[in-house]
Amino acid sequence: MSWLAEVRAIVGAANVIDGGDLAAYELDWRKRFRGRALAVVRPASTEEVAAVVRACATHRVPIVAQGGNTGLVGASVPDASGTQALLSLTRMNRVRAIDAANLTMTVDAGCVLQAVQEAAAAQDLLFPLSLAAEGSCTLGGNLATNAGGTQVLRYGNARELCLGLEVVSAAGEIWNGLTGLRKDNTGYDLRHLFIGSEGTLGVITGATLKLYPQPAAGGTALAAVASLDVAIALLQLAQARLGASLTGFEVMGGYALGLVRRHFPQLAQPLPPGEWTVLLEQSDSESAEHAHALFEALLETALERGLIADAAVATSVEQSKAMWHLRESIPMAQSIEGPNIKHDIALPISAIGAFVTSTDAALLRSFPGVRPVNFGHLGDGNLHYNVQPPIGADAAAYLGEHEHAVNTLVFDAVAEFGGSFSAEHGIGALKRDELAQRKSPVALSLMRSIKHALDPLGLMNPGRML
Ligand code: FAD
Ligand code: ZN
Repeated sequence: MSWLAEVRAIVGAANVIDGGDLAAYELDWRKRFRGRALAVVRPASTEEVAAVVRACATHRVPIVAQGGNTGLVGASVPDASGTQALLSLTRMNRVRAIDAANLTMTVDAGCVLQAVQEAAAAQDLLFPLSLAAEGSCTLGGNLATNAGGTQVLRYGNARELCLGLEVVSAAGEIWNGLTGLRKDNTGYDLRHLFIGSEGTLGVITGATLKLYPQPAAGGTALAAVASLDVAIALLQLAQARLGASLTGFEVMGGYALGLVRRHFPQLAQPLPPGEWTVLLEQSDSESAEHAHALFEALLETALERGLIADAAVATSVEQSKAMWHLRESIPMAQSIEGPNIKHDIALPISAIGAFVTSTDAALLRSFPGVRPVNFGHLGDGNLHYNVQPPIGADAAAYLGEHEHAVNTLVFDAVAEFGGSFSAEHGIGALKRDELAQRKSPVALSLMRSIKHALDPLGLMNPGRML
């Protein structure tokens, strides 16, 4: 039987799409990678995934697993060869179980993140992973990319929120590792191999996730600070005063918020334009009054110590959402401004101020007129250190000419300051060469050994990461 006939028999002909407009599957979110799929295959169960993977192994058909297709490094779409099967997990969207006493839930990999958050909230529990793509990204994709987001400071990355996995191996076997255990030292922890593997080792079909009690109240504030070093002093003060109830600490550069002001003038900005704005998020297990009082006291102290020039505390859920909306509007404002160069970097928090000062200056020396657009998850040491071409330049042409050199300058500086050139978005196709150049030969060799052991035919998302 042909591969196509086999997969049709497994998932039903209606769930194999090999013609028509496949842009939703073949074009990545940033519209930077457009591939062509041999066919889109949409299994409905773990058994169907396993059978499809076995058929692919028999016929040597490469597989690209896809969830919500919101990944930012070109790893979720097929290449241009027309030979890769696109395995879409979105029909697998069941919440399988919630164990409130164990504080865990088990879900299909194709569940949309927001649906998982809502299912937890319906039981008065919290699944804390949170990011701007949560309305369309899936848990399988979140785990395959080890997504971060806005609550990492308190709850960790996707990796820290996953206790168990169910995976279909490259040979088409089902590994059921869906334990809800917080301690389990029985050999190599396979879960951690598949988390962050970007579909290159196997297909994640299910996961057991960590839940938390739903906080009684939350709070959001914006604070104006004069420099990143001062923002970091504020972070230390906030951590000392609020402890684990500090759940988010984001930073927005003045230029970044200026772009939001220019392209979304309808969005109110509570603070006047300044150098840097910090967004603080807090959650509290006692009450809204308690939360508010702690927040006010923190900001009072910060004002007294001259750390902040001005602050605005949200007094309603709507105001809090509006503050987050400002932060989340920066990437869109950047797109409207025009094509730009994105960097998702991590640095030791203590080195961030010096890194930005020195790298901004080096960029402007080598590329006069470029506009650094800086924002990110400061509490996690993760910056989205982006670069907008000079005003008046043909942005697409500028990128064509200079993007590579800009990346080299920025990533060299990141290495010099002890950082990482990919904090939360991964490697994919976009940063594969960077990984090959910048990771140590020993690390690369160990990674290749793992890849070869788990995927000897090289059929799982080939050409991505390694
Ligand atoms: P896809 O894009 O479909 O796939 C991503 C990768 O995972 C691919 O390599 C794919 O092959 C693999 N994959 C998908 N499903 C599976 C599976 N079941 N088994 C094996 N491999 C699989 N990321 C952050 O970390 N933090 C953020 O704050 C953040 N914000 C974002 C905001 C926006 C607006 C957008 C568009 C993206 C953002 N991202 C962020 C990127 C982030 O990686 C994704 O949003 C999300 O984690 C990917 O989920 P997905 O289901 O869309 O995966
Ligand atoms: Zn981010």
